[in-house]
Amino acid sequence: MAVDVLEKDKLNLTIKIEGYPLDLINGLRRYAMSEVPTLAVEDVVFIENSSLVYDEIVAHRLGLVPLKTPKKYLEMEDAQLMLVLDASAEDSVRTVYSGDLVPVEDKEVKPVSNEIPIIKLAPKQNIKLEAYARLGKGKKHSKYSPTSKSIVKPTPLINIKNAKTDKAKQIVDSCPRNVFEIINGNLVAKNPYACTFCEECLKVDRENLEISEKPGSYILSIESIGQLEAKDIILESASLIIKDLDEFNKGLEAL
Ligand code: SF4
Repeated sequence: MAVDVLEKDKLNLTIKIEGYPLDLINGLRRYAMSEVPTLAVEDVVFIENSSLVYDEIVAHRLGLVPLKTPKKYLEMEDAQLMLVLDASAEDSVRTVYSGDLVPVEDKEVKPVSNEIPIIKLAPKQNIKLEAYARLGKGKKHSKYSPTSKSIVKPTPLINIKNAKTDKAKQIVDSCPRNVFEIINGNLVAKNPYACTFCEECLKVDRENLEISEKPGSYILSIESIGQLEAKDIILESASLIIKDLDEFNKGLEAL
């Protein structure tokens, strides 16, 4: 059994997992999308809105602004934090951005990006509101999901029978994932884990190439929207699975 990290930064995590059942790895993927909680705006109190956009539309847009969710909130059952927006246009049109949302109770709970447009104000128009962020899960509403990508695929095995093939250049050009490269006149699969099994290369040279799946080996890839770091999403996903299995076990013990 082995877990190898193939790619890791704050927003991306790709790991190769061998010797564990696909169902477990798929469970990790699904929990990452729909069970790991994040904070998002759930309620909005409008104090003033003289723009042309209805309150409901503005509230909906605010709900879709991803908010940084410090790890301490993952331990909580519920949390409510206020952010305020107070913007006005003077003599020219003003775009109000997510960065205009100001956190009140916890300065760390702020928009992942300051550049998400919320509304345009014409001269002399104002908007003033209180937005209440709550903890929630992606299974309730996708605004709470911390992942923009959460996928599992079999680990690709790429076999090149003749590295000196005269179709090498065509094979390199056919691959949309830049798997192949020509090094010193030899065709090599330099980036095999990027393969998506699209079979475009096989259309060029089916005799020379074999693309297969490594038995019992899978690649799990997570991309975070930014509320949490990618590694924290997977770690929380695993700990939630363990927690749910413990509960399940307790239920079975009662039999
Ligand atoms: S199957 Fe598709 S992605 Fe994989 S190596 Fe061939 S062309 Fe590239």
